Amino acid sequence: MIENLLKESQVKELRRMLEQCSRVVLTCHVRPDGDAIGSTLGLAHVLNSLGKQARVVVPDQPPKNLAFLPGYDDIVPVSKYPEYGARLMKEADLLIACDFNVLKRQDEMAPLWELTSARKIMIDHHEGPDNFTDLQISYPDMSSTCELVFRLLAALGLYETMSLEAATCICTGIITDTRNLTVNTKHLDLYYIMVALLKKGVPKRLILKETLEIKSADAMRLNAYALYERLKVYRDHRAAVVYLTKEDLAKFKYERGDTEGLVNQALELRGVIYAAFLREDANSVKVSMRSLGSFPVNKMCAELFDGGGHKQAAGGEYKGDIMDAVKRLVDNMPRYDELMKQAADRLKEEGYMLN
Ligand code: 5GP
Ligand code: MN
Repeated sequence: MIENLLKESQVKELRRMLEQCSRVVLTCHVRPDGDAIGSTLGLAHVLNSLGKQARVVVPDQPPKNLAFLPGYDDIVPVSKYPEYGARLMKEADLLIACDFNVLKRQDEMAPLWELTSARKIMIDHHEGPDNFTDLQISYPDMSSTCELVFRLLAALGLYETMSLEAATCICTGIITDTRNLTVNTKHLDLYYIMVALLKKGVPKRLILKETLEIKSADAMRLNAYALYERLKVYRDHRAAVVYLTKEDLAKFKYERGDTEGLVNQALELRGVIYAAFLREDANSVKVSMRSLGSFPVNKMCAELFDGGGHKQAAGGEYKGDIMDAVKRLVDNMPRYDELMKQAADRLKEEGYMLN
C-alpha cells in the first residue's frame, strides 16, 4: 500500500553508509520546527536501536512545545553548549543533515562542518538543494522530511526496528508540516504511512495537543492582539500581512513558538491567497509566508527576504527595521500580481469561492 518512491541507488548507498558508521551526528536548521526535530530525533532512535551512537546536535534551542518528544532532553543546542557540540562533530564518522537544503540554514553552526571529517548525508524536502553532502537524498514532493525518513526506513527494512519513540518523533514531523494532513499532502499513501505509525501506538492526540493546540494565556492574547491591531488586508493583491514589533512581543512576554500558526490564521481570510507574518526578533525580522494553490511564496521570500521554502509555506529574514520590512513586502506586491491572478483563476476553476 505504501509506494516505493525512492531511487534504489540512493537507498543502497544509504544502507552502505549506515552499515559503516558508528558515531553519528544528526542535525537540522536553525529555529527548528517539528519536522526538523522529529526527523533528527526519530532517526537517532532508530540508529541507537541498531547499536550506533547517535546524537542530535542543533544550532539553537528547540521550542518547548516539542519537549514531549522522547529524547528531547538529550538534544545538544550548539548555542548553549558550543564546545560539546564541536566535540561531537569532530568525533562523528557520519553526519546527517535533515530538513534543510543550504548550509546557511545552520546559521552559527555552519562553521562546525569544517571540523568534521565525517561522511555526510542530506535528507530533505526543500526545492533546489545545494551540493554540500556526499549523499543527497532530496525529494521536494514529500510533505515533510519525516515522510521521507519513514519511506527510507521502510525501504531499508527497518519498520520493525522503529520503536514507539522513533515513530512518535516521525509522526510529529508529518503532523506539524502538514498541519495534521490539511496541507501539502501530495502523496495519497501518506495516509497509509500515518496508519503504519499509529499501529505502533503513536499518541496522536498528545502530538496534536502539544504541537498545534496549546498556548499560554499570554501567547493567546498576543495572537488576538496581532489580529486585532496589526493585521492588514490588501484586497487588490489578495494578500494579508500581520506583524509584531519588539515592543508588542515584550508586552505579552513572547516566547519562541508563541506565534506559531498566526500566519495560517491570516490566510483564513476569504479572498486572500497569500499571507505574511513578520516578527521583529533580536537581530532581524523573521518573515513567514503561506499561500493557497499555485502562488509561490518561496519565490517571494527568496527574492525579497533572502529566504526560501516551499510553494505554499516559506520564510526569510530582513536585516533592518520591521516597518521597512513590511513596506518592502507591500511595495513589491504588484510584481506578483500576475502570479496571484493565475493562482486565483485556477482556484476558482477548482470551486474555491474567492470574492
Ligand atoms: P516557517 O514559516 O514555518 O518558519 O517556515 C516555512 C518553511 O519555510 C519551512 O519549510 C522552512 O524550512 C522555510 N524557511 C523558513 N525560514 C526560512 C529562511 O530564512 N530561509 C529559507 N531558505 N527557508 C526558510
Ligand atoms: Mn520540513
